[in-house]
Amino acid sequence: MTLDLDTSLTYCTYCPKLCRHVCPVSSAEGRETVTPQTKMATMRLLRGRTAIEATVEVAASLYACTGCGACTEACHHDITPGRHLFTGRAEAERAGLGAPALATLPERVRAKAQRAALTTRELVAPQRFTAAGETAYLPGCDDPAGAVTALALADRLGLPLDVPEGTPGCAGYPLLAGGFDDAFRLHAETVARSLAGFRRVAVACPSCAWAMKVEYPAHGVPLAPEVVHPTELFAEALQKIPVGEARGEAFYHDPCYLARWLGVTEEPRQLLQRVGVSVREFSRSRAEGVCCGGGGVLPLTAPATADAIAAWRLDEVREAGVGSVITACPTCRRRLESDGVASRSLIDVLEEATRTA
Ligand code: SF4
Ligand code: SF4
Repeated sequence: MTLDLDTSLTYCTYCPKLCRHVCPVSSAEGRETVTPQTKMATMRLLRGRTAIEATVEVAASLYACTGCGACTEACHHDITPGRHLFTGRAEAERAGLGAPALATLPERVRAKAQRAALTTRELVAPQRFTAAGETAYLPGCDDPAGAVTALALADRLGLPLDVPEGTPGCAGYPLLAGGFDDAFRLHAETVARSLAGFRRVAVACPSCAWAMKVEYPAHGVPLAPEVVHPTELFAEALQKIPVGEARGEAFYHDPCYLARWLGVTEEPRQLLQRVGVSVREFSRSRAEGVCCGGGGVLPLTAPATADAIAAWRLDEVREAGVGSVITACPTCRRRLESDGVASRSLIDVLEEATRTA
């Protein structure tokens, strides 16, 4: 049974913090004000359940969340603080209590998306841009050049893949996570129009894939194509991928939105194993995986906390002496870059393996 927002806030408010141990933010900061329970209780207070002085400082607690969903896995009631807190941010924004660090977020998202679209436009052959087709590819604003690799891999496997004419550069998750609901809805409408002629769309960024699949319709923006992640697309051609020679060991990091929110955990592992990568599992993986610190716009609101979370994830790679981590999210890959650990994109690994097979 899915509980409504009011009931969820009440349950969390009176909960003895049963999910505290899995929250990367409260673990990294070690403060009670950023446990999932306190964040949800604060949101309830701000919605007027009890007299409280509503200030930017009080509302700051709502922003101490990556949206990772780990608390939901631990919750006996399937409550989703990682989603509800985004609603709390939208309410805070409307009440003039938004995070100061996000004051110009819509302008920054727009500028970054335009830069990303321009980069993709410069790198991809003009004939690969089309307004309609079988499958569109959205590379994501953190890796606009990734379209080149994905298209090369798709060509090799005989999968039809193109870049939408007027590629949006970003599907808008940061606007949703930052509490800019109206800007998110407007952005979603533009993206939906640019994809109207495709049967499906492969979205490299798992958080944007989730936003398109779940939040576009929830915000009244129907999307014509089916949304998939590229790992699902390439896993369909698994039998066409040449079985690779042993390529050594690497950790696979589950992006939270891919594994927990979209339920894609096995396809990345099957693809890596197919090309000869011996997949090393983190002590917490799949639906119980640990965030890289990059979600929920946390790197903008609490950069030191976001860095501490990534360092925590990397500690396990270093301690194992493996030296390599592969992931299926451009943001996670960038967050896990560090001295002594090679952080690689799963699609790059597949493309390289099939090119040299
Ligand atoms: S999400 Fe569940 S476990 Fe976590 S504070 Fe709320 S009720 Fe408790
Ligand atoms: S979604 Fe993740 S970061 Fe947010 S409260 Fe839950 S466990 Fe903490």
